[in-house]
Amino acid sequence: MNRKGVLEAIYTILYGRYGSQNWWPYTDVKNKGFEICLGAILTQNTSWQNVEKALENLKANNLLSINSIDSVNFERLSTFLRPSGYFNQKAKKLKAFVRFIIKNYDGDLKKLLSLPIDKLREELLSIYGVGPETADSIILYAANKPIFVIDAYTKRVMSRLGFGEHSYESLQSLFMDNLSLDTEEFNEFHALFVRLGKEVCRTKPKCSVCCLKGSCHYPSKVV
Ligand code: SF4
Repeated sequence: MNRKGVLEAIYTILYGRYGSQNWWPYTDVKNKGFEICLGAILTQNTSWQNVEKALENLKANNLLSINSIDSVNFERLSTFLRPSGYFNQKAKKLKAFVRFIIKNYDGDLKKLLSLPIDKLREELLSIYGVGPETADSIILYAANKPIFVIDAYTKRVMSRLGFGEHSYESLQSLFMDNLSLDTEEFNEFHALFVRLGKEVCRTKPKCSVCCLKGSCHYPSKVV
């Protein structure tokens, strides 16, 4: 089977096992795009459960908007972000993110998100605190444009499955060069890797219950 076939087979197996993941989560449909951007920054180096607590704090204090994040006192913002860890750094990142939109896009997130993918990615990566995974999460989940997000779970699963691509860029190219550019499928595929990585292909993998064990090359795999 060629690589396209292998990737499609992995997707089919994961989707068959876990179904739709409804990712990325958000609570307020009016502020969906901005909430996803905030979550994409806050989830750096922490679990989603911790991000949810920080987002709840922001929501409870009417801080789910570009202008409110821009105007809120830095220390106050840091306090609300405390559950997500690295809260001073993250407060600085959120401040930088909204200032960028205010300065360059009249405070209108939609204007930024409506850019073509390459330009949007370039713009996002120019913002303090936004790296490839955060930028791509925003492009895929907030802008609804087809780019494949690579995270630590995807890297671990793909490596254990025997793929030789290890860098962010090479893994991203592997998916994007071999699959059709389908936002919905990229959305689900990434979310399914997260699900598998959290529940089964953990640091100490539970190979005996893994739906991918038939195609896995991991040395300690239990079949
Ligand atoms: S068989 Fe084991 S190592 Fe391979 S993907 Fe599944 S859990 Fe991970």
